[in-house]
Amino acid sequence: MSLVASEGLMLRIAPHGESDKLATWYDARLGRVTAIAKGAQKSKKRFMNKLEPFSQLRLFWRPPRSPSGLYFLEDAELVRPGLALRREYPRFLAASCIAELCLRFTRELDADPRVFQLLVWAVDAVTGQSRFFRYPLFFQLKLLELAGYTPNLSVCHRCGRPLTGPACFDPGRQEPGGAILVCQRCLPGPPKAALSLQSIRMAGYAQHSSLDSLHKLQAPSRCLVEALDLLHAYSQCLLQSDLHAWPVLRRLLAGEGAGSETRASIMLDRHGKVL
Ligand SMILES: [Zn+2]
Repeated sequence: MSLVASEGLMLRIAPHGESDKLATWYDARLGRVTAIAKGAQKSKKRFMNKLEPFSQLRLFWRPPRSPSGLYFLEDAELVRPGLALRREYPRFLAASCIAELCLRFTRELDADPRVFQLLVWAVDAVTGQSRFFRYPLFFQLKLLELAGYTPNLSVCHRCGRPLTGPACFDPGRQEPGGAILVCQRCLPGPPKAALSLQSIRMAGYAQHSSLDSLHKLQAPSRCLVEALDLLHAYSQCLLQSDLHAWPVLRRLLAGEGAGSETRASIMLDRHGKVL
């Protein structure tokens, strides 16, 4: 089989046996792909400083020998090393969140050039922008759209009216394109702590903004944390499991001691009761 070259962004590296590595990247032409890099644990030249998370690479690979076999990664050239991400822990965490979302919301060998473009855009922004904590939120909003899970953040799913005040997330509502928030009028009992209208509108505005204009979208930290909490809760329901990088990033964003107060305040249980 002849060698094929393509561009990709490394998402995950794991040792495999005594001397090999398993590399998973999002490839501009293949989509998400996992390949075995033979001898990569001991290679001094071929893969040195290249097979690292978030590196943008030109990859040289061979397809599997059988339909169920692994791809073979033979060589790689650095396009952008992403060193700042590995030197600064907060940036590393933000990029880890983005990589994990990409791993969880894409399928192996299901290529979508828009996902590759979005991933490169988000990792570049987390590497170079000063207010880089915005980008896990923006990435998640755009990835949900590409995966067909865009949440409707503009109306209450119970009464169908446009949201004009704070609202709570209802984990019982997960159909793509459906509303996932319930307004205060539709919640029984006294007014509940909820996601603020400012946070809801900021997330809705980001949903409909181009990648270029998202760089200009500034939001108070409180709104970012609330919107990230909402999307995290929504993604958790879709995936039926947690995201590993999320709790640590959340603590950094909200400060130690903030705990899960904001998250709890925007959550309803499956019977519509505020948790
Ligand atoms: Zn309502």
